[in-house]
Amino acid sequence: MSEEGLYTMKQVAQGIAMLDQIVQFGEHQMELHPTLLWDDDHAILVDTGMPGLFPSLRKEIQQAGVLFNHLSKVILTHQDVDHIGGVSELLAASEHPVEVVAHPVDKPYIEGEKPLIKHDPSRGPAPSSKVDVTVEDGDVLPYCGGITVIFTPGHTPGHISLYHQASKTLITGDAIISNQGQLIGPNENFTPDLDLAWKSISKFTNYDIETVICYHGGLCTDNVNEQFRKLAEAHA
Ligand SMILES: [Zn+2]
Repeated sequence: MSEEGLYTMKQVAQGIAMLDQIVQFGEHQMELHPTLLWDDDHAILVDTGMPGLFPSLRKEIQQAGVLFNHLSKVILTHQDVDHIGGVSELLAASEHPVEVVAHPVDKPYIEGEKPLIKHDPSRGPAPSSKVDVTVEDGDVLPYCGGITVIFTPGHTPGHISLYHQASKTLITGDAIISNQGQLIGPNENFTPDLDLAWKSISKFTNYDIETVICYHGGLCTDNVNEQFRKLAEAHA
C-alpha cells in the first residue's frame, strides 16, 4: 500500500473529520474511525485507536489541517482497547496537558481501577489512562460547534455517543455499527447487554441527524433519521 493510501481522513463538514486507522490482524484488515472536531480555539479527538498506532493517528490529524499541539481534549466513548489504546502515547507526545473526558461509569475501568470488561490478557497488558472530566447524558460541551453527550450503555455500561450540533453529525462510538452506509445495530459479539444497546439506539431518533460516523463501519449519510426510526420500531 502506498504511504498516501494509509491516510484517508474525510472531512465531513467545517470543523469535523472522520479519521481512518487501519489495523492488521493477520491477513485481515480492520478500519477504525476516530473523529476530530475543531474550531479556532479548540481541537478535540473522539477515541484514539489501538495501542502502538499513534504515529498514524497523528498524521491523520495533521492531514485534516489541525496542528497536533492544538489538541486540548480527548473524549473516550468507552473503555474498549481499540478506543483507549492510543491515549497514553498521545498524552506523552503532547507539549501541553490534554484533558481526557469519559462517562463516570466507564471511568474506573479506563483508569485501571477495575479490569477492562472485554480485555484478553493474552493480548498483552491492558492500556489505561487518567480521566480528568466526566460527562453525563444531556451535557453539552460548548466547543467546536456544540457537542451533546448521549448516554448509550449496552456495549459497555458507561458508553457515550456524541451529537455535533453544528453539522448534525452523530458520532456513535460502538453503540451501533454500519456497513456500506447502512446502519446495522450493536455488534452482537462484543455487546454484553443487547437489550440495553437497542434501547440506547432508539435515543438517536430524538435528534435530527444528517451524517453518522460509526467507529466500526464509517460514514452513513443516506436517510439516516429514517434508518434509525426503522431500527427503533423493529426493536421496540
Ligand atoms: Zn470498538
